[in-house]
Amino acid sequence: MWNRLQERLEQFLKGRYGRDELFYVLLVLSVLLWTIGLFTAVIVLIVLGMILMVLAFLRTLSRNSAARKKENSYLMKVWLPFRRGVKLWYYRIRDCRKFVYVRCPGCRATIRMPRRKGTGRAVCPGCKTRFEVKVLWQWPGTYDDE
Ligand SMILES: [Zn+2]
Repeated sequence: MWNRLQERLEQFLKGRYGRDELFYVLLVLSVLLWTIGLFTAVIVLIVLGMILMVLAFLRTLSRNSAARKKENSYLMKVWLPFRRGVKLWYYRIRDCRKFVYVRCPGCRATIRMPRRKGTGRAVCPGCKTRFEVKVLWQWPGTYDDE
């Protein structure tokens, strides 16, 4: 009996789209809406959360993979630059003692340089643009030759 059930389930799931990033975003959003809705007793938020949850699972069962991929690509257009920005700020804070992050005037790339007080020269490794970098302060005791 279990084998037949498993077979049927496999048959049912064959060719379905499955989970992607948008699935998890919808899931997290629905749980957030539920939580806020439960604490504020706003029914609309709870219902909206339920709709998003149902939508998330219906998407995983869809056979129209092209359309689902397109929906997910809209999310990734926003999500990837956002994630890159958050990562960069994390690195900036983590490395703030030893490094400065500057933007290349040629190609807008972000370049990491040693944090040494004063005006220095930089060459972008990407587009080879040469530019000046002014560092306003450095952490005391970071470099041995102070
Ligand atoms: Zn550059």
